[in-house]
Amino acid sequence: MTENCIFCKIASGEIPSATLYEDADFRVILDVGPASKGHMLILPKQHFANICEMPEELTGKAFILAKHMAEKMEKALGCDGINVLQNNHEAAGQTVFHFHIHLIPRMANDKVGITWKPGKLTDEDRDEIVKKITEE
Ligand code: AMP
Ligand code: ZN
Repeated sequence: MTENCIFCKIASGEIPSATLYEDADFRVILDVGPASKGHMLILPKQHFANICEMPEELTGKAFILAKHMAEKMEKALGCDGINVLQNNHEAAGQTVFHFHIHLIPRMANDKVGITWKPGKLTDEDRDEIVKKITEE
């Protein structure tokens, strides 16, 4: 538990939450500022700030749980689609610095704005990124 981390307190049960699922490693809760009705958050019980800090095995478990909750979401809520989203660092929109996965139910033609304006992959960018990533 990291002091003053709201998600540590929620995940441990110290702060009550609308809990949808719980096991030894995770708690799944309803987001209090939902992008859409049924927006869920998967919280590990141990504190890790972001995906790069997470141990591999727990990261794998988190995404397997995301799949299970997505299946449940589709069946129980009858949504048309689901966004699985995970923000890392402030620049990417992370506001709570305790790893979490968002599951956002979507309906056809809803006005939930998880989108971007597509750019263009130039040959220069492609070559640069392929080189940088595959050289590591
Ligand atoms: P992120 O921007 O990826 O860090 O997402 C943080 C999310 O946590 C936002 O969607 C908030 O609405 C949500 N959130 C913040 N505080 C709480 C809380 N006490 N209980 C449930 N969700 C929260
Ligand atoms: Zn925490």
